[in-house]
Amino acid sequence: MSVRAHNAILLPVLLLVACGESELQSYDLSGHAMGTTFNITLIAPPADADLNALRIRISEKLEHIENIASTYRNSSELSTFNLNPSTDWISVSQEFCEMVSAAQELSATTYGAFDITVGPLVNLWGFGPSNRENELPTSDEVSAAHEYVGYEFVQADCDQSVLRKTAKLVYLDFSGWAKGYAVDEVAALLEREKLENYLVEIGGEISVRGHNAKQHKFSIALEKPISDNDIQYSVWEFSDVAVATSGDYRNFFDEDGQRYSHTIDPRTGYPTRHHLTGVTVVSSSTAYADAMATAFMVLGPDDGYALAEKLGIAGYFLVRTDNGIEEKLTSQFEKLRRP
Ligand code: ADP
Ligand code: MG
Repeated sequence: MSVRAHNAILLPVLLLVACGESELQSYDLSGHAMGTTFNITLIAPPADADLNALRIRISEKLEHIENIASTYRNSSELSTFNLNPSTDWISVSQEFCEMVSAAQELSATTYGAFDITVGPLVNLWGFGPSNRENELPTSDEVSAAHEYVGYEFVQADCDQSVLRKTAKLVYLDFSGWAKGYAVDEVAALLEREKLENYLVEIGGEISVRGHNAKQHKFSIALEKPISDNDIQYSVWEFSDVAVATSGDYRNFFDEDGQRYSHTIDPRTGYPTRHHLTGVTVVSSSTAYADAMATAFMVLGPDDGYALAEKLGIAGYFLVRTDNGIEEKLTSQFEKLRRP
């Protein structure tokens, strides 16, 4: 039996600075949060901006999100809800309630492909907070965990800020879009500080506004995994958008020649199994782009692409074929080619 684990943290998508003459002052704030790295670039901030205070507020914001949404913190609001076996309505923060409610809308839009109740399966397959077992789960174990997966097991009433699970073993997992959510929150914080040109990146999910230090759009290289050891890049220019990527080549394990990726199909209970290796979504909201990229990874190269077209989403799909990686761009993504 051959086992190869690959659990690299998501690296930021490679960023390339466009060439130009006059360069504006830029400031980089970077660090670790949410089990990954973040990089924030501020271009020509207002003269009276207090960057130290800003750095502290960004750290506090990320800490706040982890205290709400992390499955890796036993004391987070999410973990408290998960560990509570009660099926009564439970008071929660307005923010947590709205996150759950927004996630449920995304589930409905994606035919249940994106589903935060996927937690018991994520844990069973070894992609959650506890270590992976050496053996693959049995089909009985998958069926048992699958029983409590389904967004209809959670009810949200955000006028009252209350949530309810309809079965005690329901377990929520926000990891599929928490980074995207956090990028939007940090970007909103920068907006309030009157910053007009910036890049915010957390674990590979990105939001860009305005222009870079050379006064061009931001150049972002999208990864193209040719093989395990060969990742190439396709460079695109973006401004005023969010860019989020999901892939099966950064967090997976191989067993008996089969790849098990960290994206789980909530409809079957098993890790996704198809020829789609990665999807990038460009949208106005990073949380939306992040969740949609996960949903498309679940739905696969045909159904995922069809849903992206139907919803008018800019999607860049990378499909494994006998002749290498094929790029499939939705009509909205094609439009991004134009200046
Ligand atoms: P990627 O960049 O590949 O989307 P993320 O870290 O953003 O990776 O999301 C992967 C995580 O999302 C998994 O580790 C798991 O916690 C969660 N997840 C897996 N499958 C689903 C799903 N179908 N819907 C929502 N979340 C999921
Ligand atoms: Mg994601």
